[in-house]
Amino acid sequence: MSTLQSFSARTGDVLAELPATSPAAVDAACEAAAAAFAPWQAATGAERAALLRGLAAALEADREALVALADQETALGPVRLNGELDRTAFQLRRFADLAERGEPFAFVDDPAVAGAPPAGHPAMQRWSVPLGPVAMFSASNFPFAFSVLGGDTASALAAGCPVVVKAHTGHLQLSNRVFGLIQQVLAAQGLPAGLVGLVQGGGRDVGVRLIRHPAIAAGAFTGSTQGGAALAAEAAARPRPIPFYGELGSVNPTIALPAKLATDGAALATTLAGSITLGCGQFCTNPGVILLIDEVQPEMDAKAVNDAFVAQLAEALKAQQPHAMLTTAMRGAFEAGVAHWAQAGADMLLQETAAAGQPPRPVLAQVSALEFIAKAALREEVFGPSSLIVRAASLSQALQVLQAVGGSLTVTLWGVEQDSDKSRALVRGAMAIAGRVLFAGVPTGVAVTAAQQHGGPWPSSTRPESTSVGDAALARFLRPVCLQDAPAWLTARAGRPV
Ligand code: NAP
Repeated sequence: MSTLQSFSARTGDVLAELPATSPAAVDAACEAAAAAFAPWQAATGAERAALLRGLAAALEADREALVALADQETALGPVRLNGELDRTAFQLRRFADLAERGEPFAFVDDPAVAGAPPAGHPAMQRWSVPLGPVAMFSASNFPFAFSVLGGDTASALAAGCPVVVKAHTGHLQLSNRVFGLIQQVLAAQGLPAGLVGLVQGGGRDVGVRLIRHPAIAAGAFTGSTQGGAALAAEAAARPRPIPFYGELGSVNPTIALPAKLATDGAALATTLAGSITLGCGQFCTNPGVILLIDEVQPEMDAKAVNDAFVAQLAEALKAQQPHAMLTTAMRGAFEAGVAHWAQAGADMLLQETAAAGQPPRPVLAQVSALEFIAKAALREEVFGPSSLIVRAASLSQALQVLQAVGGSLTVTLWGVEQDSDKSRALVRGAMAIAGRVLFAGVPTGVAVTAAQQHGGPWPSSTRPESTSVGDAALARFLRPVCLQDAPAWLTARAGRPV
């Protein structure tokens, strides 16, 4: 049997060895999820809510040990990890409330209309039913909120779907401890153990076997664009292709207009530096591209204002002390990404060498809009405490930069408070490529709420019409069924033949 290792993110020391899941055990987890589907699909909203609330309470009751373990394996620190655990419990309870209230399952009643078609039609009702067992791939950088009991698991369970989790190799012990809590709650509530399964493996075999299993009806993934693309291709190549909801990497352009920087530049530089280095830059919403417009304007020297802002940002970044990265592989990928910027001709404005064994230093580089548009290597996410300044000579060049990005979880616009042709063009350009457009603040920090949209066109996600955060995440795991001329007994049972 092959073994996996849990590592200390700070020292790289091996903390524990754990068995990889065998192919037979991956299959068994999928089959157990399939067996749990029928009763869970039949469960009432109140029963689903009870499970989700029980899971939230179990997480909170084990907080101290969970946070200590997560801190060892991720180096994210107790403040961040306690906050993330709070968010995870909050979203479990939010999906519990949604399942109980039943809004996502509301049906469309279309009574019969007498007469010839197209106006006349039979009695029809459009219901939503759960898809079936979901294969869920955890991300490394949110060991609670996008992991074993994160938003994907919570929303799938609320929808009526069992889940088989592929644990992330970056926090294996934590994943197993959370899984142990889940099993205790399932047993206490008399629910089948197979309703939530866990598999783990270091190579690609375990994840690929999971997404290929015939019992799996959908994939939910949070991670890199490369990993998401590989698994989305697997999901599409199955004999019976399935939906694959991949939340991927993103460069999150922030556009700061000179008039805004002329008044608030110093404060915005400090805020931005904090956002770039938050969690050592390991956020999918990290502002990876700062777009500045050097357009000649009668009332101000935009280039001078932008230059001053860049200098302030470099100073503010220099003062930051990022913590260790999640894994040594991620640290290596960060350094390789920064090296690619330099090789592609970027002007390296801030690039200090970290002392041996120390966390990475923040990086700031600069390129022209024309270079950014011409070189795909400059548009790739560099996951870590870094940002690329892109200098556009005009509004139209700035809009071409957004088009070149193509898809992003967020775009932030600073300085479009006044209605003008320019503001409208920028908002149009931002809405064309992003799932969320911000007009104040920074993109790091994603509220779990009704209007949230966490997704976007490729390469930020595989399904731009869906979200992995917020109430609408539940809808990913439902599909509509129309019942035409349904018998009275079925209508009386709310379309549920159980
Ligand atoms: P990752 O390396 O893609 O890993 C995610 C999961 O997919 C892991 O379980 C991994 O297995 C598995 N995996 C990766 N490639 C695979 C392949 N080719 N075949 C089968 N399984 C595969 O991502 P990560 O390092 O955890 O996370 C960092 C990335 O996630 C960043 O790009 C970040 O922007 C993005 N992210 C996005 C969001 C969002 O909501 N859009 C949120 C957080 C993070 P192993 O554990 O075995 O490696």
